[in-house]
Amino acid sequence: MDKQKLIQEHPQIKDLMAKKPIVWRNPDYGERAPLPLSRAQIFDAVARWERFAPYLERVFPETVATHGVIESPLIRIDRMRAAWEMLNHQSLHGQLYLKADSELPVSGSIKSRGGIYEVLKFAERVAMQRSDLTYLDDYGVLANSDYHRLFAQYGVIVASTGNLALSVGIAAASFGFKTTVYMSHDARQWKKDRLRANGVTVKEFDTDFSSVIPLARQAAAADPHCHFVDDEGSTDLFLGYAVAAVRLQHQFKKQGIKVDAKHPVVVYLPAGVGGSPSGVAFGLKMIMGANVHPVFCEPTHVPSVTLGMMTKLNEKISVQDIGLDGLTAADGLAVSRPSRIAGKIMRTLLLGSVTFNDDDLFEYVSELIDTQKITVEPSAAAGFTAIKPLTTAVPELGGANVTHVVWATGGDMMPVSERERDYQRGTTLLTHERFN
Ligand SMILES: *Cc1c(COP(=O)(O)O)cnc(C)c1O
Repeated sequence: MDKQKLIQEHPQIKDLMAKKPIVWRNPDYGERAPLPLSRAQIFDAVARWERFAPYLERVFPETVATHGVIESPLIRIDRMRAAWEMLNHQSLHGQLYLKADSELPVSGSIKSRGGIYEVLKFAERVAMQRSDLTYLDDYGVLANSDYHRLFAQYGVIVASTGNLALSVGIAAASFGFKTTVYMSHDARQWKKDRLRANGVTVKEFDTDFSSVIPLARQAAAADPHCHFVDDEGSTDLFLGYAVAAVRLQHQFKKQGIKVDAKHPVVVYLPAGVGGSPSGVAFGLKMIMGANVHPVFCEPTHVPSVTLGMMTKLNEKISVQDIGLDGLTAADGLAVSRPSRIAGKIMRTLLLGSVTFNDDDLFEYVSELIDTQKITVEPSAAAGFTAIKPLTTAVPELGGANVTHVVWATGGDMMPVSERERDYQRGTTLLTHERFN
């Protein structure tokens, strides 16, 4: 990789190398271009989730109240908005909402969307090929022991920094699939413990996600009965995430949030490999169109999706190629090489991206607890860091008519000890800030 040439072509790479927070505006945003996935495929995924609702209701008691629908609340957070204004010494003119995927059933993270969806699709295929399931059956039968014995002849493998393993692992184990997860060095002990308690085989590696994933891919390729959930390129994962937009459109309507040329919506999505934010953003653009503006948020040490999209090299460049260490306290965002599909699909659909310092996450984690009693994991607070730089760089999105949606991607499953540690780190930083 010729760094000098890269900097010449893309001067912002110099700031990325210096770990300075940046706003990158995507020059291709809004251009018309053919896309490899369609709106119809999102509705195919919506219908599959509906077919599986009776199954989910049966095996995951926390979904009984919603009749097997796995969805998170959209919460207006006025007290947090006030805290944001204090912290940033400026007004936030628009409205502020939290899309609380931190509360999604099964994994307590956005991974419940893509990860579970991909497992459902695999289970449906096996059940149709090897048994007599039809599309109009009550899929609750898939929880019966004869199906369990059938699924036990098949395996599911996934590599993950943590949350994808939780969602795929728990969902796959519920069907009886032999489930193996490959976990990178940054995966938390409690996630491994929880997976093992669910009967999942956990393989631990002391390298980062980008080097663990090829090992998992190889292991799966060697076994024809084994399905590999490919976080770097799966369209099923992608479509599972995209379904969020169909649900959000309805939540906007119910809560009286307008989406039109006079009332734009900015949606802030933390990006790791880029799959979940791109899947959601693709859905938003397909379902709600030009007046919803997706923005990605990444750590200054790991701006992998930003770097891939800026250079258009996508998965062919990693943050190590420009001398970054790829380390962050934001679990799930420590992915140094982006997805093979995310950046390409986002080329014309992403407004831009913003990079942040890790410390800022913890301040917002603490503020969110203090003001709204909502706990999220550090990566899930990334959107709060992006509002100020984004509205400064794009003033037309800084008005009173704008709705800002921070996508809180995870946190509900965190043990109390971790919540307390994150909260303390944030509170200490805030105190320091106030007295200096
Ligand atoms: C996985 C994850 C992300 C990022 O998703 P990618 O698909 O890796 O880009 C963000 N936040 C949390 C909490 C996650 O688990």
